Amino acid sequence: MLTNPYYKGSVRYQGVTYAGAHEAIVPNEVWDQVQTVLGTHRSAADATQVHEHYLKGTVFCGQCGSRLLVCNAKSSQGTIYPYFVCASRHGGRGDCTRQAMLIEQVERLIERFYAKVQLDPETTQAVSAMIHARFDEMMAEGAAELADLASRRTQLEGEQQKLLQAHYAGAIPLDLLKKEQDRITASLETIEHRITAHHGHYADARANLDDSLKLLSNAADLYEHADDANRRLCNQALFRAIYIDEDNDVRVGYRNPYDGLSLSGLHADALSWAAEAKKMGQARTATKGGPLVASSHLIRLG
Ligand SMILES: [Zn+2]
Repeated sequence: MLTNPYYKGSVRYQGVTYAGAHEAIVPNEVWDQVQTVLGTHRSAADATQVHEHYLKGTVFCGQCGSRLLVCNAKSSQGTIYPYFVCASRHGGRGDCTRQAMLIEQVERLIERFYAKVQLDPETTQAVSAMIHARFDEMMAEGAAELADLASRRTQLEGEQQKLLQAHYAGAIPLDLLKKEQDRITASLETIEHRITAHHGHYADARANLDDSLKLLSNAADLYEHADDANRRLCNQALFRAIYIDEDNDVRVGYRNPYDGLSLSGLHADALSWAAEAKKMGQARTATKGGPLVASSHLIRLG
């Protein structure tokens, strides 16, 4: 479903996509983000066999951490009940006592867990604003270096002009001019590269942050409407592992950057940062010496 443009309000007819008359079910940018995430994991999905359950390989025993295997039990009436069983217990290794779980029940548990994964709009906004403010700070710190690079560039361009003038005045021969021009061109290229890299680094990080937050702020809605293959991709994009505990609690190990973005400590920091920033009337001043920017939560975002 997630790869069908119908859901972002477009209609595909004979290979051409048109803007549809119906209202988009999923906002455009969310749809685009999901395509990016799904595209990344597409090859992994292609490699999986059709008959495998979409949670296989993602769910683990909450007691011992082993994989959960799919088994089928048959009732006396001949009805088949698919269930998950701990691989360690099933293989008779170790001393895990985890009871088998009906697969349907595990599916519901994970669907419900997605409500916890999804960030509410206020938190999303606060986390985004706080981290972008931190990026602003880091860019400002790099501004001195940028200024140096820019003035070195101006200086080299001036040298280029002088060399040309000297050559036209007959003061330096062509071979020397060429040699000097090559040296200056190489230096200028290095400087351009460093200036571009400086901008690109933060631009990529910011874009990645925005995409990741978008996915987190829509995770439950997307998962609810996704088919099995896309549910698998959503789980693989967000989690290293999903553990099903004895008391039917769900625990997960998030992948980067969702591990950092999902920390409740970060959310609390961001909300109080946003409240403080609102009070101050200016977000930037609030970042100075705030408890959150220096906190370990941000470091984990990579
Ligand atoms: Zn186990």
